[in-house]
Amino acid sequence: MKTATKIIHAGADPDPSTGAIMTPIFQTSTYVQEAPGKNKGFEYARSQNPTRQALETALAVIENGQFGLAFSSGVAATDAVIKLLSPGDEVIAANDMYGGTYRLFTKVFEKFGIRFTYVDTTDPSNVSNAISAQTKLIWLETPTNPLMNITDIAAITAIAKSKNVLVCVDNTFASPYLQNPLDLGADIVMHSSTKYLGGHSDTIQGALVMNNKELRDQLYFIQKSCGAVPGPMDCFLVLRGIKTLHVRMRQHCENGTVIANWLRTHPKVGKVYWPGFTDNRNYDVASRQMRGFGGMISFELKDNSVEAAMKVLSSTKIFSLAESLGGVESLINHPATMTHASIPREERIKNGLSDSLIRLSVGIEDADDLMADLAQAIG
Ligand SMILES: *Cc1c(COP(=O)(O)O)cnc(C)c1O
Repeated sequence: MKTATKIIHAGADPDPSTGAIMTPIFQTSTYVQEAPGKNKGFEYARSQNPTRQALETALAVIENGQFGLAFSSGVAATDAVIKLLSPGDEVIAANDMYGGTYRLFTKVFEKFGIRFTYVDTTDPSNVSNAISAQTKLIWLETPTNPLMNITDIAAITAIAKSKNVLVCVDNTFASPYLQNPLDLGADIVMHSSTKYLGGHSDTIQGALVMNNKELRDQLYFIQKSCGAVPGPMDCFLVLRGIKTLHVRMRQHCENGTVIANWLRTHPKVGKVYWPGFTDNRNYDVASRQMRGFGGMISFELKDNSVEAAMKVLSSTKIFSLAESLGGVESLINHPATMTHASIPREERIKNGLSDSLIRLSVGIEDADDLMADLAQAIG
C-alpha cells in the first residue's frame, strides 16, 4: 500500500459496537468485568484504552514498525527508553539535540547512575570510538535541533549491532513521512507527537515505535508501571492529525525549500541551516535517508548580535514567537533563550549554537506571505 493510503487508514477499523468510522474517545477509567478476571481485554485505562490502542496501531503502521506505544509527552517517551537501563550503564548521545532531552539526561538520570557521553554523531567514527563495555544505548536525533546536522542512521546502527547496543532515533523533525529509522536498522523510533504527528499545536504527546516484541513488552511494562499515558481525547487528536500528515508534510517541504533558498540570497542573512542544501556536509546522507527536507530552518544574521536577532524575533506578524514546531502555522523561535536555554551557554557556543541564531518552523500558509513577513522583519 502506498504512503497516502497507509497514513489515512492506519489503525482505523470502524468501531465494532456502532460502526463509527472514527475511533470514539473512550473517556473511561475502568471497564466492567463479567466475572473476576473475565474481561474484554480492557481492565484499567492506564494499562489499556481503545482510543490509545487505535493510535498505537497507527503509529506502528506509519513508522513501518510492529508495535507503537503512546506517552503523555515526547519527554515521557524518552524517559521510558532510559528506564530500560540500570545504574552504571552508558548512553552515547548526540552533542546537538533537543534541550529537554539533554536536561532529562543530565539533571534527572545522571543522579540515578546512568552515564551519558555526548559526541558529534555526524561522524560515525566518533560513536564507535566512544562505545565501551558499559554502553547500552545510542541516542540519535537527525536532523538535529536547531542546527540541522545529519547523522547516518544506517552507519550507526551497523556499528551498534556489532556491539549489541540499542539505537533509538528521535524522528520528530523529519516525521515518518520523510524518514523511517526502523528501516535503517534502528531499534526504537521516538517522536514528540506534539509536533508534526499532531500537526495542529493542540496537544502534548509522545510516541515510541519498535519491531522487537521483547523490547515492546519491556517498554509497555514501563508505560503502565510509570503511568505517563496520554488521555483518550489527546489520542483522538493525534489520530486525526496523522490522517493529513502526508499533505501537510508536502506543503512544509515546498514552503521550506522556497524560504530556505530565498533566505540564502538575502543580503542581511548570514549562515542558513536547512537539510536540503546540496552543499551541506552530509547532504549525500540526508538525500539517502530522507524523502524530503521539511520546513525547519535556522539562520543567523550578518549582524551577529543578539540585539539584531531580537529585532527580527519581535517584528514578524505571521510567524508567531513561540517554542514548539510542526504545526500548520509558522513559528519563530530564539533557541538561546527559549528552547535551548537549559543547555549551558559554553556548551551551546562550542556546538555552534550562537546567541543570535533564529529558528523557523515554516507552516503551510502561502510561501509568498511568509517571505514578505520575514523580509519586513529582517528589514
Ligand atoms: C519537542 C521535542 C521533544 C520533546 O517532546 P514534548 O512533546 O515537548 O515532551 C523531543 N525532541 C524533539 C526533537 C522535540 O522537538
